[in-house]
Amino acid sequence: MVAVGVIAFQGDFQRHLEVLRRLGAEARSVRRPEELEGLAGLVIPGGESTTIGLLMERFGLLHPVRNVIREGLPVLGTCAGAILLAREIEESSQVHLGTLDIRIRRNAYGRQIDSFDASLSFTEDEDGAEQPIPGVFIRAPRITALGAGVLTLAALNGDPVVVRKENQLALTFHPELTGDARIHRLFLGMCAP
Ligand code: GLN
Repeated sequence: MVAVGVIAFQGDFQRHLEVLRRLGAEARSVRRPEELEGLAGLVIPGGESTTIGLLMERFGLLHPVRNVIREGLPVLGTCAGAILLAREIEESSQVHLGTLDIRIRRNAYGRQIDSFDASLSFTEDEDGAEQPIPGVFIRAPRITALGAGVLTLAALNGDPVVVRKENQLALTFHPELTGDARIHRLFLGMCAP
């Protein structure tokens, strides 16, 4: 069984644990650096990126998590998790990991449409067929620039909403809130190649 950790301070970590368990993974909450040991992958959930970042720092997880990602541990960052992974967060100096070469803008879809559902065209790899995938966007960020080698796996009106570079997969929406587990399955494939 592949062991996958979920950063479990704040936000929607419980649903990620449930989806991963439903797919047969051994999903564990991570709140302390020791809990990173033996993991084949790590999920950083949606929620409030400033809060999650500060708690990761306070509990001594920021540097260890940054290191394991740099060493190649597969990571899935969703919404706030994608913000924490981004190298650059527009107009913010908040605590974050900065391991993924993207620029991101928080709360980028305006107040009236704070939250919305969209059907996204998703391609698992460069050669794969496109399939619609449901996306739940909640006060979602927008990826505004991609560094070299960052692939777009799904886009919404021209904005990348699922991106991947090597061991890092980042989404601007919440894949754990729909019955569609393809994102988690793709991620588990990265954890147990
Ligand atoms: N707006 C949140 C932030 O900036 C992200 C929202 C989410 O994770 N659903 O951290």
